[in-house]
Amino acid sequence: MHRIMDFRSDTVTKPTEEMRAVIASAEVGDDIYEDDPSSNALCEYAAELTGKEAAIYVCSGTMGNLIAFATAGRAGESLLAGKRSHVWCSEVGGFSAIAGLCPYPLTDDEGIPEPSELAAASRADGDIHHPDTTILSLENTHNYTGGLAVSPERFARTAREGKRLGFHVHLDGARIFNAAVFYGVDVAEFTREVDSVQFCLSKGLGAPLGSMLCASRDFIERAKKWRKRLGGAQRQVGIAAAAGLYALKNNIGRLAEDHANARLFAELLKKGGVEVEEYPNMTNMVFFPLRDGEASDADFEARCLEKGLLTHMISPRRARFVTHLDVDRDDVERAAEIVLEALRA
Ligand SMILES: *Cc1c(COP(=O)(O)O)cnc(C)c1O
Repeated sequence: MHRIMDFRSDTVTKPTEEMRAVIASAEVGDDIYEDDPSSNALCEYAAELTGKEAAIYVCSGTMGNLIAFATAGRAGESLLAGKRSHVWCSEVGGFSAIAGLCPYPLTDDEGIPEPSELAAASRADGDIHHPDTTILSLENTHNYTGGLAVSPERFARTAREGKRLGFHVHLDGARIFNAAVFYGVDVAEFTREVDSVQFCLSKGLGAPLGSMLCASRDFIERAKKWRKRLGGAQRQVGIAAAAGLYALKNNIGRLAEDHANARLFAELLKKGGVEVEEYPNMTNMVFFPLRDGEASDADFEARCLEKGLLTHMISPRRARFVTHLDVDRDDVERAAEIVLEALRA
């Protein structure tokens, strides 16, 4: 029996021996008193990388996005976000339930709304009935449209139009380093175009948990209050922060391997006749449909698991495979064989 190859998400990576050693020897303090050296070092480095004045460590990407929205807007105001965005689809409506924001959907079939959609969505026409629009949320890479990377040019066009209209522009950059590596640019190419950015340490970067929220000093000071309110301020957080800093210093460049592995996986499936969702700017995710006459969703998952391949359907009849630090080229080749076999009805 092979070890289990887990392609469900890049969140499943486990800390390496080296990262565990860093965790074990992390200097810690009480982060609420702001004297945790590991957390402070991570925040400083994250701010520097993203070209922002300040940063805070948060429990998760979901919390980082929610804190950004709650800090930027007030109850009754409107948040513009893509219909297929993670903040809209997969964060349990936190921006409404907790921040009181009223969502307004944008078209994001190619991962980012067109600038031309924003002016109409802002509803700044003096009509007393309309909620004021205060926030625009963008996502890069864009998970549910194929994990595709939006180019710096295209990203900047929409972000700048958002700013011109007076919105707080937030980037849900859970995988912004995948986008930066894909285009071979500094991550600041993207983050300098926005007012705030959240990115995940716990995904392709390989840390066990945590996300960073980066923005201006004033914004981060106010964000700290929201983090406290949500119960997300922690004490000896350096245990986790040290792993995050290690991930940022060691695991960004290697994301290119994940992209190459995903590309190889897609090629192997296509050779086997699978109608892979193909994009020139795909990163570490591969999506494909289960067609009529092929295995049921449950059978597909079960047959894969029997052969040591862990996967799950992202939605009915749509499979998503994600490459990461804990799967290599051999795993990808074997996974493709297993998938082709499992698809047969
Ligand atoms: C994973 C993800 C998040 C949320 O991160 P969690 O740490 O799982 O809360 C936000 N946005 C996108 C695009 C994601 O893929």
